[in-house]
Amino acid sequence: MVPRIIFGRGSFNQLGDILAPKRLSINAPFIYLVDDVFKSNAFITSRIALSYDDKIIYVSSEEEPKTSQVDNLVEEIILMTKERPSGIIGIGGGTMLDLAKAVAIMLTNEGEAKDYQGWDLVKNPAIYHVGIPTISGTGAEVSRTTVLTGPDKKLGINSDYTPFDQVVLDPELTKNVPKDQWFYTGMDCYIHCIESLNGTYLNAFSQSYGEMALELCKEVFLGEKLSIKESQDKLMMASWHGGMSIVYSQVGVAHAMSYGLSYLLGTKHGIGNCIVFDHLEEFYPEGVALFKAMKEKHDIQLPKGICANLSDQELDVMISISLSLEPLWENALGKNWKKVMTPKKLKELYKKM
Ligand code: NAD
Ligand code: ZN
Repeated sequence: MVPRIIFGRGSFNQLGDILAPKRLSINAPFIYLVDDVFKSNAFITSRIALSYDDKIIYVSSEEEPKTSQVDNLVEEIILMTKERPSGIIGIGGGTMLDLAKAVAIMLTNEGEAKDYQGWDLVKNPAIYHVGIPTISGTGAEVSRTTVLTGPDKKLGINSDYTPFDQVVLDPELTKNVPKDQWFYTGMDCYIHCIESLNGTYLNAFSQSYGEMALELCKEVFLGEKLSIKESQDKLMMASWHGGMSIVYSQVGVAHAMSYGLSYLLGTKHGIGNCIVFDHLEEFYPEGVALFKAMKEKHDIQLPKGICANLSDQELDVMISISLSLEPLWENALGKNWKKVMTPKKLKELYKKM
């Protein structure tokens, strides 16, 4: 679990005080990985106090993180620093948070990031790393994984060394998120709750966090009386609790299928989950009904027909990526999931999207 966390509007201003005691030497800088949407936005960057050799590296989140991108960043950091950095600080959405986690791991572990995709393959503790979300929903700020697309799979580096050493939750940082993106990433959290609460891996630990997050999502997306600030605060905590819920259980059908879309078509996680979940009433009847109500309330139009023109070969790639995520299917459908979710059934589902 994340050992240290601060929450509150304006808490980002405390970052300098948090980092100061963690500086190893004047030659060991802090490296900030910042979403390049903030490059021309002084709201965030003017509040980062750089000392000695500290650097900001702006990274585009247009595409989701790749193992090769992590390797390149690690090399860039090794070349630009005199000593191993004192820490890596990720500032942005799930993309930047996952990159920060992966870079922190790969600075102390040999080889390439793709070698560590899987469960508990990381040998050495990562360097100190801090996560600061600027959009709410993925739960990447709290999770034990960093999801990466590699040469032959989309899979996380899941390990005890992956979670952040420190998280700063400042809901004010989410104020400029575009509305559609707010919905897609927020729905990632909602879908985490539905998949966790309806999964066979559910236990009291996950259930308590999942129920809390689900209530917060309902308030944010279907409630009538929240101010914008309350809504930002609550969605940030929903993301945290939704993430806590899946840390100790698993996600399900929507995530397994959306990984396939992302691998083949590059569909981003939040919108991909929404496109898939919209067609999953067979598996999550109540969850999907509520999702449709939220979609309507916020006037969200999802893309249609994204799989309509795919060849059989392409569909087969998606199907094999999706079916390889065995724990997700077992959580969703039980030990005999292979009898329910056959390649043929999965193809029919994809073709609806
Ligand atoms: P994202 O990080 O790609 O950000 C979405 C968009 O919002 C980007 O265009 C970004 O520039 C913009 N944005 C972010 N904050 C903003 C702000 N304050 N103002 C204006 N624009 C802002 O998207 P996401 O949905 O947060 O994350 C998706 C990624 O998270 C995927 O790579 C997915 O695999 C990963 N993920 C990881 C976990 C985990 O447990 N590690 C869980 C779920 C998802
Ligand atoms: Zn997710």
